[in-house]
Amino acid sequence: MALIVQKYGGTSVGDIERIKGVAARVAGYCQQGHQVVVVVSAMSGETNRLVALGQEMADGDPDAREMDVLTASGEQVSIALLCLALHNLSIRARSFLGDQVALHTDDTHGKARIKRIDTNHLEQALTDGCVPVVAGFQGVGSDGAITTLGRGGSDTSAVALAAALKADECEICTDVDGVYTADPRLVESARRLDHITFEEMLELASLGSKVLHPRSVEFAGRYDVPLRVMSTFVEGPGTLITIESENMEQPLVSGIAHARDEAKLTVSGVPDIPGIASKILGPIGRANIEVDMIVQNTGADGLTDFTFTVKRQDYHQAQSLLKPIAEEIGAREVSGDNEIAKVSIVGVGMRSHAGVATRTFDCLASENINIQMISTSEIKISVVVAEKYMELAVRALHSEFDLNNEELPQ
Ligand code: ADP
Ligand code: ASP
Ligand code: MG
Repeated sequence: MALIVQKYGGTSVGDIERIKGVAARVAGYCQQGHQVVVVVSAMSGETNRLVALGQEMADGDPDAREMDVLTASGEQVSIALLCLALHNLSIRARSFLGDQVALHTDDTHGKARIKRIDTNHLEQALTDGCVPVVAGFQGVGSDGAITTLGRGGSDTSAVALAAALKADECEICTDVDGVYTADPRLVESARRLDHITFEEMLELASLGSKVLHPRSVEFAGRYDVPLRVMSTFVEGPGTLITIESENMEQPLVSGIAHARDEAKLTVSGVPDIPGIASKILGPIGRANIEVDMIVQNTGADGLTDFTFTVKRQDYHQAQSLLKPIAEEIGAREVSGDNEIAKVSIVGVGMRSHAGVATRTFDCLASENINIQMISTSEIKISVVVAEKYMELAVRALHSEFDLNNEELPQ
């Protein structure tokens, strides 16, 4: 008998029939003698709908605390419906909101971080022979207010609960049957991976593969939670996220991630003197805008250009923050482009192989794709390209690094 935490995403609980399907799947595990804790997302499309309502009500600038109250309501609906569906199958089930668990977070509304989880209520439910059904994505702040963990955060709720409960496995049940070499919606020939290392999965998730919330992978790695991505709808082993790949021979590239929601800003003609980066980026950071890639060109005539990327949703705010800074430091102009995308190749095998960068750049060049920015680490290479070339870039690199299905060794 194992203790398993299962998380069902939005598509998996998208309508009444699907919720019934999830209940039947959970019941199957119970009948095999396992203890199951279920974490659910809001029904698909619901969080987007709630965000849009809040945005409309507040003319695009809603209060973060009230947005959390609003967006967390989606998961409240799902936990109740799933419990009712489980009751129909004579399975005892009890719903838990974030503060009923309680899952304590800091007070950063909209992107709260988990600080501590009380497990006694959940453990009591399990002892009573009940399936606890927990609302993902939400927690409770230090003042008792509802907080949310950021979009896609139910994965993190599930892994954190699995860590706190010392569960035998955390299963992320979704609409794909595992982690693929690239988003299977974009690359038809992408193939499912049996295993992927935490390190690689963390890079892929952080670089845009939304199959797992990055914080969930971080948690799983830190607390050694066996984490599996699998389909809600079809049987199969899914993908196990492991400490070490079981293959002795590491593939050069394990996967390709893309992120469409990027934008870049350039301050040109900036005096090339100490302190400039901090002058430009300080106010951006203080406005809680996350800066990703940064490039400062070598100065000529005492002037330089400074370019950085932000999430597309922060583009306009970053632009308005930059204008007065540019004036203050005597820069020539602020320009930007919000039709860019980031494509990244990830693989632990890159550590021991030179030439991956050259192959990447040659491949993009042969497709006539201009690289606007580059950033590398030990196990990844990211490039910024015009958004219109993103899909082509992902497909070309997927085939360059032999990731296509049909190229699997026999
Ligand atoms: P859920 O609602 O279950 O949380 P998500 O939509 O958040 O599901 O994540 C699953 C989606 O992630 C898939 O439908 C797929 O399009 C996308 N995805 C992106 N990259 C990958 C990848 N490398 N492998 C599998 N799925 C991926
Ligand atoms: N419902 C939330 C969202 O759509 C959380 C999640 O699905 O993981 O972002
Ligand atoms: Mg998700």
